[in-house]
Amino acid sequence: MIVVDYNCKICGGNDKDSIDFLGSKICKSCVNKISSTDVYDTINYEYYKANIKKMWLDYIAN
Ligand SMILES: [Zn+2]
Repeated sequence: MIVVDYNCKICGGNDKDSIDFLGSKICKSCVNKISSTDVYDTINYEYYKANIKKMWLDYIAN
């Protein structure tokens, strides 16, 4: 039995179109949100930055 983990690390969604980012999955809608997030939109920016930092730390730890 093959268990495929599509869970997006940011939104927890199960989008098959997720991409691999530092060993974590991010769905396309989150990728789009990140890439379209204005750095001056600080609430979103800090939110995604925190998530990416967490993924980066997970990646280093493994
Ligand atoms: Zn997502």
